[in-house]
Amino acid sequence: MSDIVRAKGIILSSMPIGDNDNRIVILTAELGKITAIARGSRRQGNHLAGLVRPFLMAEFELFPRRDGYQLSGGTSIDYFEALTSDIDRLYYGFYFLEIADYYGREGIGAKDSLNLLYFTFKALIEAKMPYQLIRRIYEFKSMVHAGEYPDVTGCCKCGDSEPASMYYSSWNQRFICDKCLKGEVRYADAYAVSKDLLYTLRYIAASRTDKLYSFVLSDAVMKELDSWVEKQAKLTMDKRFKSLEVLDGLKVLDKEVLTRE
Ligand SMILES: [Zn+2]
Repeated sequence: MSDIVRAKGIILSSMPIGDNDNRIVILTAELGKITAIARGSRRQGNHLAGLVRPFLMAEFELFPRRDGYQLSGGTSIDYFEALTSDIDRLYYGFYFLEIADYYGREGIGAKDSLNLLYFTFKALIEAKMPYQLIRRIYEFKSMVHAGEYPDVTGCCKCGDSEPASMYYSSWNQRFICDKCLKGEVRYADAYAVSKDLLYTLRYIAASRTDKLYSFVLSDAVMKELDSWVEKQAKLTMDKRFKSLEVLDGLKVLDKEVLTRE
């Protein structure tokens, strides 16, 4: 039993295989994103049955195998049970798991991503912020953790952090000040961004994870953040997320119900 590995993590996905087993993908602090087989987990009363559900945070016990790991046991830390009581919240949760899966790599420790998931689920459950704001913060912070985001500290040419006005070019994925923009033909697509958007992005980029979900935005800045992160996420993450399609479907449904009433 000496080669058993212990790792703290969150289950990103779980798939039934064969008659009795599950294949689970876990994001762990120590080992990064790993795949494990849970033998017998679908048999009634099996000791692994409670350890294969997406969202579960646990201290997992694993045997290394040639092609991944075999789950041998574990101690659950948090189920984030309350996520399941609201369908919108649940699918935001699934979407966040998909993003963590997208950025997770085997062998690259994922302590930051794991912390981010933990505090994001807490924020979804507490629901002190609109889900859509939680989503935009999570998306942008995930890109920050991956190092895939534009410099938000100042103008890309002169470095000025407080210019009279700042612009953003999606084409170049850079912020540029009004002075440097003059005569710059390669920045023809640049559009003005508010100081509040800039401050919000700076806060998200620099904030500790446990302090991330602690602010509110005016409707105007929320709209700006919404559209900026939306575009940026599409440019950065090269994937169609299944849960996002469901979420968008739910929103269309909400609107239809509202217009019918
Ligand atoms: Zn400048």
